[in-house]
Amino acid sequence: AAAQRQQRATLTEVLARVAAAYGDELRKSPRAIAYLKKRGVSGVVAKRYGLGYAPEGWHKLAGVFAHYDDPLLEEAGLVIVQPEDHKRYDRFRDRVMFPIRNVKGECIGFGGRVLGDEKPKYLNSPETPVFHKGRELYGLFEARSAIREHGYALVTEGYMDVVALAQLGFPNAVATLGTACTPEHVQKLLRFTDAVVFSFDGDAAGRRAARKALDAALPHAQDTRSFKFLFLPPEHDPDSFIRAWGRDAFARHIGDAVPLSRFLLDAASEGCDLGTPEGRAQMTHHARPLWSALPEGLLKRQLLGEIAGLAQIDTAELSEFWAQAQPPAP
Ligand code: ATP
Ligand code: MN
Ligand code: MN
Ligand code: MN
Repeated sequence: AAAQRQQRATLTEVLARVAAAYGDELRKSPRAIAYLKKRGVSGVVAKRYGLGYAPEGWHKLAGVFAHYDDPLLEEAGLVIVQPEDHKRYDRFRDRVMFPIRNVKGECIGFGGRVLGDEKPKYLNSPETPVFHKGRELYGLFEARSAIREHGYALVTEGYMDVVALAQLGFPNAVATLGTACTPEHVQKLLRFTDAVVFSFDGDAAGRRAARKALDAALPHAQDTRSFKFLFLPPEHDPDSFIRAWGRDAFARHIGDAVPLSRFLLDAASEGCDLGTPEGRAQMTHHARPLWSALPEGLLKRQLLGEIAGLAQIDTAELSEFWAQAQPPAP
């Protein structure tokens, strides 16, 4: 265990050195600076998030470390070793770099964006002993005091969403790292606040992400907590929306965000014609696993009444039916 702790400490030291080196490279790269300027990122915000630039070239990290073949560089996800010929090269090349920090502020990985339209648009660090995508939220270290002050956290999909929101008056935003929002993500946020507003992209992928976030939030939806879902126009994400429409328009969207209870009922009713007994039965069937995932409490009781109301049956009857009938195998 002591050896493992030692290794983790060494990995974060390696990552910290690289984050600093990428920061220096950004200051030396007019192209990368111009890119961030074009996207409306100020120097102050770039500094707050420790943004950097991974220069072009296959072995630039050889200029940062005396031993480019140190296995730690590979373990940290910074260097890729080709299985065929064991040749090494830098994972991140010619990308704007977003250091991902844990709640202690240590750099544990990176996201990197191309400056143009090349693919893949984003490249993330792989899973390493210090970096677990399903657990970490981008920007949480930077946002944590703002989350406490504002009284809620905003959860987005992307690095640029977090940076743009911080730039334009919402420093309390975090992002999932190109993965679905997990119950662990929600748990982590709840250490700082009782209120979470999910704000995903308005496209189909964003709506799917919102559905996943609902699943992640349900087991945590105690009566004292508030989970809301903000739906943007299909062509927008939080970054593009706030730049196009401004801070007040985004704040209005936050005000109009849909509470978890509403979203649960909408999700259960989706594709069901509530004007027919068949549709109402199907809605009830969809609602059951969502409702079951809720912790005991008044919200859960009230939602039972709401579901029964939509199903046009008695609450006690629905409760009894669910108690008797086993849910069908998925
Ligand atoms: P930008 O505004 O810079 O064009 P975005 O953040 O709006 O990008 P999306 O396509 O909406 O990009 O993706 C949301 C998030 O998903 C990204 O911020 C990134 O974390 C992750 N992501 C997107 N594309 C990839 C990819 N090809 N590989 C890994 N992660 C990705
Ligand atoms: Mn998207
Ligand atoms: Mn997006
Ligand atoms: Mn975007």
